[in-house]
Amino acid sequence: MAARVIDGKALAERVRGEVADDVAHFVARHGRPPGLATVLIGDDPASAIYVGSKQKVTGEVGMRGFDHRLPADVSRDEVVGLIEDLNADPEVSGIICQLPVPDHLDGVELTGLIDPGKDVDGLTPVSAGLLALGREGLRPATPLGAMLLIEEAGAQLEGAEAVVVGRSNLFGKPMAQLLLGANATLTICHSRTRDLPGVCRRADVLVAAVGRDRMVKGDWIKPGATVIDVGINRSNSSPPALHGDVDFDEAVEVAGAITPVPGGVGPMTIACLLRNTLQAARMAAG
Ligand code: NDP
Repeated sequence: MAARVIDGKALAERVRGEVADDVAHFVARHGRPPGLATVLIGDDPASAIYVGSKQKVTGEVGMRGFDHRLPADVSRDEVVGLIEDLNADPEVSGIICQLPVPDHLDGVELTGLIDPGKDVDGLTPVSAGLLALGREGLRPATPLGAMLLIEEAGAQLEGAEAVVVGRSNLFGKPMAQLLLGANATLTICHSRTRDLPGVCRRADVLVAAVGRDRMVKGDWIKPGATVIDVGINRSNSSPPALHGDVDFDEAVEVAGAITPVPGGVGPMTIACLLRNTLQAARMAAG
């Protein structure tokens, strides 16, 4: 029987609607909206699109946007100065330094300078540490979105076998921590994992974040499993197509529930970023 396809677009819309309602309450209570500052360095077209959509939805839910664009040859000191100003600005609840940054700058260093209370991408060492310790803090938006999709699918995580393919700091590691926090029995796979198909077949919940076009095949999936596909792979076909890390056509015949690409994890990322910005504003307001 074909799997239920989890509609990430609809869920993201719902989350954005909830955030918009909560923002209205926040404004009524505190007299000002939460604010999201984005810092974009250089002219990478994909980054410009991401930042543009983040700013657009920020306005749509009633938050204030601060859109900072710096030239590709900006000095490290200038970027540091801007981040310090944003850290100190009470109108700014959340800060994002869009990655990647030009080669003469260190994205990890710059991200690490963001005040952890405003780290709405959840990527600073402090945020990663709080997550690892199971303490309250801001969580990275894409794994957070993946957790909401798993919940939406009705999958039970307590005691379940969860497998995450990919161990990046951006996604795989925080995803694994969130699953562990939800009491799943966790396995993390990567490029050196032996018998990857066999490990994936154990998963009640399988999360793929590899960056390899349709690598996870139908016979890697346990019948009835919940499959979350994080991958975004653009093919060179004409017209260009977007595929995940999971072979959707095969997987949909085996899984119990599955996210599509596009329309699954992708839309949830920005929705969760907005949730984080509201959370940061509430934390700052006490
Ligand atoms: P990275 O390239 O940083 O990490 C990829 C991971 O996959 C690594 O841990 C790597 O292992 C592992 N890997 C690579 N090849 C294999 C293989 N053959 N078998 C098993 N594991 C393998 O990618 P990201 O985590 O940043 O992103 C992963 C995907 O998710 C990308 O397609 C990206 O575009 C997408 N993405 C989507 C987002 C969204 O909003 N929807 C947000 C973030 C990412 P090793 O560590 O050993 O090298």
